[in-house]
Amino acid sequence: MPKRSDLEHRALSFIANHSEEGVLQSDLWRSLDASSREGSRIALKLENKGLIRRERELFEGRWTYRLFPMRRPASINSIIDCPCLSCPESIRCGAYGAISPNVCEKLTEWLAGLAQAGAGVQGDS
Ligand code: SF4
Repeated sequence: MPKRSDLEHRALSFIANHSEEGVLQSDLWRSLDASSREGSRIALKLENKGLIRRERELFEGRWTYRLFPMRRPASINSIIDCPCLSCPESIRCGAYGAISPNVCEKLTEWLAGLAQAGAGVQGDS
């Protein structure tokens, strides 16, 4: 029988891998090969730790929960347009060098754009 902490870790990974659409609680416990009672207990525990949120949902005539991670895993799309990825100076760029991310205008602009976009998303809710 797997340890509870191992089950929690697997549950969190499963939920994180379905961050967009969320996961029905019943799909979670099936994926873990756990009982519905144990699946519910794990989901509640993850929610109490602030790692997921549960939204009540009527599915096929029964009330259940859809589970979403509180943090989404980073994706390659989040950095695909970072100027460092295509910068001809990247090989010479370093924290203490003449060319440095500490004073790079391109990087600062890119980060400011991300911050502005993030503020727009938060302001929409
Ligand atoms: S911090 Fe600026 S100079 Fe350094 S690699 Fe990134 S874009 Fe190029």
